[in-house]
Amino acid sequence: RAKEQGKNNYSVYHSGMNIKSYRTYLLQNDLRKAIEHNQLTLMYQPKIHLSTGKVLSAEALIRWNHPKWGTISPAEFIPLAEESDLIIEIDRWVLINVCKQINKWKESHNIPLRIAINFSAQHFIQRNLIKEIEQILKDYNVDPHLIEIEITETSLLGNEEAVKQTLLQLKEMNIKITLDDYGTGYSSLHYLSNFLFDIVKIDRSFIQDVANKEKNSRAIVESIITLARNLDLNVVAEGVETVEQLNALIDLQCEEVQGYIFSRPQLPDNLLNYILECEEKNKLFSSNSSSFS
Ligand code: C2E
Ligand code: MG
Ligand code: MG
Ligand code: MG
Repeated sequence: RAKEQGKNNYSVYHSGMNIKSYRTYLLQNDLRKAIEHNQLTLMYQPKIHLSTGKVLSAEALIRWNHPKWGTISPAEFIPLAEESDLIIEIDRWVLINVCKQINKWKESHNIPLRIAINFSAQHFIQRNLIKEIEQILKDYNVDPHLIEIEITETSLLGNEEAVKQTLLQLKEMNIKITLDDYGTGYSSLHYLSNFLFDIVKIDRSFIQDVANKEKNSRAIVESIITLARNLDLNVVAEGVETVEQLNALIDLQCEEVQGYIFSRPQLPDNLLNYILECEEKNKLFSSNSSSFS
């Protein structure tokens, strides 16, 4: 009986795998054409500086508008791209398009907004990465301090030395570096104390429970914020969705927050409108408060 059940389980598991790998196969095939067919787009999500209410930077998040399957999340297709050299082409496409966008914002509204790009771990061990970035920034005449690169803790694993060299070179170029999804990997303290990062982004899984007194998340978030301050790093909380979470983060003196409570990732024009609205509100707020003083 047990044997039979085991057999059944196996066949269910197996056919499930086949459907999944069929989709994977199709997507992987189509992904090769996605760039040339203009199916990739970038959405931008602001990071809000809490003590000033300003948007100092935004994160570029890629989307794939597939002609048949609709919008496909990077959580699904980036891992597929990472199985081949495609990821390098995609990261390159992202950097080029971010540069173009930065120039557009600068020209139309004189807003020099820093944009954070998510780089794949695989890209980080490519020997010519630095030259490539330098060339793109030069081609588009973009100041490196307007570029921020986010990498995850897990991407450091296994390639520590190569990644470290790359990070040091990026730092020399004045590109800001963020450790993304902080707390989900390990040996975190070690990386933070290495002077390799400028910004720590606390993972959404801790932010989810930050307002819940019965959970440990608040203590963890508090420790990360204190640690960041002591190490002279900037700190951002990702995935802030509720007022309760926001209030907890204000209490803990988190510097910057990002999440649906302020804004979902949006098209460039909408982000611009959002920033202009923020500036209006800040002006109102500061003129109000000065009239009281
Ligand atoms: P990430 O860099 O940690 O990005 C944060 C993810 O959380 C994004 O998902 C964002 O849309 C989502 N998010 C933001 N605020 C909230 C919130 O308040 N609540 C919830 N539930 N989610 C929120 P997205 O855009 O689907 O990206 C997923 C991951 O894919 C990213 O995680 C990043 O690792 C990767 N990725 C995205 N764009 C790129 C890219 O251009 N290149 C590379 N190599 N990877 C990318
Ligand atoms: Mg990120
Ligand atoms: Mg993240
Ligand atoms: Mg995350």
